[in-house]
Amino acid sequence: MKPLIVANWKMNPITLAEVKNLFNSVKNGIKNIKNAKVVICPPFVYLSNIQYLKSNIKLGAQDCFWEGKGAFTGEISPLMLKNLGCEYVIVGHSERRKLGETDEMINKKIKAALSAKLKPILCIGETGEERKQGKTFKVLKNQLKNDLKYLISNIYYLKSLIIAYEPVWAIGTGNSCEPREAKKVYLFLRKISHQLINSRASYNSEGICSGSANKLLYGGSVNSENAASYIQEANFQGLLVGGASLNAQEFIKIVKSIDPAPILQNNCFAAHGGRIGQSRLAGQYYSY
Ligand code: PEP
Repeated sequence: MKPLIVANWKMNPITLAEVKNLFNSVKNGIKNIKNAKVVICPPFVYLSNIQYLKSNIKLGAQDCFWEGKGAFTGEISPLMLKNLGCEYVIVGHSERRKLGETDEMINKKIKAALSAKLKPILCIGETGEERKQGKTFKVLKNQLKNDLKYLISNIYYLKSLIIAYEPVWAIGTGNSCEPREAKKVYLFLRKISHQLINSRASYNSEGICSGSANKLLYGGSVNSENAASYIQEANFQGLLVGGASLNAQEFIKIVKSIDPAPILQNNCFAAHGGRIGQSRLAGQYYSY
C-alpha cells in the first residue's frame, strides 16, 4: 500500500501566479517518486486551473456541500468537484468545526461525497483541553460514531473513506504529536474504524472480507523531520500536511522522506464468531 500524502493549502496562496509556481515546483520535485501518492487540496477557485496542469498529482477539495445542486448560495456540490477532476475531499476539518460545522452536517457531507464517488478524508481530533482531561479516545469515538452514522453498508463505497487523526492542539502550532502517542491513537482508531466500518463490509462465502481496511492518516505540524516517523513508527498509511505544504521544497522533502520498505499491511479477516485485525510493521504484530 502506497502512503498517501495530502497537502491542505487552506486559504492560500492569494494569486494564481503563486498557485502555478507552487504546484509546478512540487510537480517537478516529486516527478520520480513511485512509492507515495500525492494529493493537493487547493482552494476551490484554483481547482480548474490546476486541473489542466497535467501531472501525477491527484486533486482534492477542502470541503463540499451535502446537496448535488440547487438554491444553496455559496456552496459547492460534490458533483461539481467530481466533474472538475477531484478524486478526494476533506470533510470535517477542525478549522471548519470551529466555524460551526456539526457532526450532523459532516455526516451528510460524507454521504454526499461518497455518492459522488469522491474519497472523503474525514478529519477528527481532540482539543488540548480534552487531551489534558484524558478524553482523547472518547472524543474520537464519538466523532466517528456521529460522523459515520447510517452510512450505507456497501464496502466498495466505504473502503474509499479515509480517516485523518488531526489533534486540534497540534494543527499549525509546531507541537506535533509524539509518534509514540500517535501510535496508541492509531491502534485505537484501527479498532474502532474496524467495528464501525469493516463490520458492515460484505464477506464472501469463506468469510473473507472483500475490502481492505480504510486508510488512516496523521495530520498536525508535520514537517520533513517528523513525517516518516508517523508512517514507520506509528503505522499510519499517510499524512495530511497543512503549513509545510505551502513551501515547495519542504513538501518535496516530506514526500521523499517516506521510505517505502516498512509500510503497514492491514488485513481484515472475518469468521463466524469473530473477526480480528492485524497490523504488521517490521515483523511485529499487533492484534485487536
Ligand atoms: C491541517 O490543516 O490539516 C494541518 C495538519 O495543518 P498543519 O500541518 O499546519 O498543522
